Parts: sequence; structure tokens; C-alpha cells
Amino acid sequence: MKKDIKSLTYSQLENEMALLKLPKFRAKQIFKWLHETGVTSFDDMTNLSKDLRESLSEKYHIRSCVIENKYVSNLDGTVKYLFRLYDGEYIESVVMKYKYGYTICVSSQVGCKMGCTFCASTLAGFKRNLSSGEIESQLHCAQKDLNVRISHIVMMGIGEPLDNFDNVMTFLENVNNEIGMNISMRNITVSTCGVVPMIYELMNRNLQLTLTISLHAPNDSIRSKTMPVNKKYPVDMLLKACREYEEKTGRRVSFEYTLIKGINDSCENAQELADKLKGSLCHVNLIPVNDVEERGNIRSEKDDIIRFQTILKNNGINATIRRTLGSDINASCGQLRYKKKRGDFDEDSC
Ligand code: SAH
Repeated sequence: MKKDIKSLTYSQLENEMALLKLPKFRAKQIFKWLHETGVTSFDDMTNLSKDLRESLSEKYHIRSCVIENKYVSNLDGTVKYLFRLYDGEYIESVVMKYKYGYTICVSSQVGCKMGCTFCASTLAGFKRNLSSGEIESQLHCAQKDLNVRISHIVMMGIGEPLDNFDNVMTFLENVNNEIGMNISMRNITVSTCGVVPMIYELMNRNLQLTLTISLHAPNDSIRSKTMPVNKKYPVDMLLKACREYEEKTGRRVSFEYTLIKGINDSCENAQELADKLKGSLCHVNLIPVNDVEERGNIRSEKDDIIRFQTILKNNGINATIRRTLGSDINASCGQLRYKKKRGDFDEDSC
């Protein structure tokens, strides 16, 4: 059985090459091809002999994704990709342009098990974890297609990153490696719906990335209705883990709060949230819910969103309202994969 060479860390690759009796510098060359250049075939590794390329391709495969569909927003240039994987499954990534550079939002799993009621990612069911190489391949594909360098990563696509912990850790190590893409940990955000034991695992790695919590509600009665994970790891337990995370890593934790009309957007909700977050370094990102047709959630009124933000700010909590990008191209995670599975794709918008 062939091994997945793009999902090895640098030291694992060195060990593999040592077993093949190859000199150390070969590991460096191959790592650069896979992670800096992002080649999809051993044939492209032009500084290796033909014999070596052949023998590598007998032992290893390079799993990468290919573009199935591409959508470009007319509103803001945001690009959304539907990628096809080696086994015919689909995932999504979004590339956004900001003043400081290009950010990619990557998927970490094919589907999601978490079942949040407002999110499209669960609609088509959970299939499997992505390998670390497949997660990284989203960056290489997008970079090549757009001919730009991506400098920032947010793990906010399909899937729950902390439910695919080991592969996500390998991915982070490889993109951060200076002989690979060399993306600083400070430019990487990992988002979780609140899998508390894995927040502690992440804390022990002491990485300089940004941890973001999809909170979306100030108390258990609202949160458990929209986010099943809350029944296992309730709000107070989650916030305690976040405070410990901040203390241990010195990194400010961010909270995502998706505002849904009549569900979590009242003054009382804002005050309760402020009371719970008081005293921590945190930042709250308020997000008007993206209408996912099948989910039936309604976006809060603009005035209510501003009122919510004002209450947080008056209580000393740093809060911003997220600009929605790509709202004309189904940029919410999971929507394209679901539509593809249902077979009602709108090919015209390609
Ligand atoms: N599983 C991880 C990462 C994927 S979701 C997590 O839950 O954090 C990325 C973010 O998009 C999460 O904050 C999620 O709650 C939010 N989200 C999902 N569907 C949304 C929608 N319809 N409108 C606005 N935000 C949404």
C-alpha cells in the first residue's frame, strides 16, 4: 500500500528517506517540492533523477485536490472553490482579499458531526477526516489558480478542526515550516464549536495561533438548542477552558457570535454575554447569520446588531461586526457540497 507523502512532517519524511538509504538533503528537496511549490506529481520534481522519481511514485502518492467549480463574487472579489478529492468527495475553500493580504478559509473534514442548526456543513452528512496533505492542498490549488501568495489561514470551512486533531496539528506544523509555506502561526486561526478536552490538548502545544470559539449564545438554554456540542461541554466549562488557554499561551481568545433574529440577539442576551466575558482579554466578532435556505434562520436587524455591539463595548468588551464577504456566492461553509450532493448545481454561476 502506498503512503501519503504530503501528510508526513519534515522529521517523518527524513526518517522515511533514511530508510530508503537516501542522503538527508533529498528529504529537504522533496519537502520543498511538496510544501513550498505544491507539486501534485513526482514527475514535477525536476532536480531528482528519473529513477528516483519512479521509485518514489511506487512507494508514495501525493493526495491533492482539483477544482470542480469556482465562483467569484461580483461584490467583493471573494473566490469560492468546490474541490474534488481523490475519492470523489467534495470540500470547499474561500479566498478573501484583505488590506494585509490573502486569507484562505479551509475545510478540515468532509462534512461535520457537530450538527449546529444554522450551519450548512452537516446537511450532507459526515464522511471522513481530511489528511493533513489534503488540508494543505487547498492552499496550493488556490495559490496556483489565482497566482497570488496566501499569507493567512482560517480553519473555518467545512468540519470541526479539533475533531480531526492529529491531522490538523501536522498541517499546522507543515505550513509553518520555513522550508515549506512558512506561514507564521500568528497568521493562523483555528475555530472550534467548543470541544473542551481538545482545547486543553491544543493549549499544551502552546502555539502562537489564534483560537476562536463559535459561542453564538450566552447561556446553555439557548446554546444547547442550536449547538448540540453544548450538551456535553456547557458554556461555563467552555469559558473556563478559554481563560486557562489565555493564561497558558498568553494569546487572546476570540469569540464568534452569529446573530439570529429573535434567537440570541436581545439586549438581555448581550448583557449576559458581557457579564460572562468580563475580565478576559477576549475579542467578540459579531456575524449577521448567513441565510442558508434549508436552515430558515433570519438575520438580525442592523439596529439590533449595533445595539448588541454597544452593550458589549459599554461593558469593556472588544467587539466588532464582521463584514460579510461573498454573500452572492453561497460563501457559507457547506452550502456548495450540499448542493452538489443534491445534484441541483447552478453551473451558470461558475
Ligand atoms: N467547526 C468549527 C469551524 C467551522 S464553522 C466551528 O464551529 O468553529 C466556521 C464559523 O462559521 C463558525 O463560527 C460557525 O458557527 C459559523 N457559521 C456556520 N454557519 C453559519 C451561517 N449560516 N451564518 C453565519 N455563520 C455561520
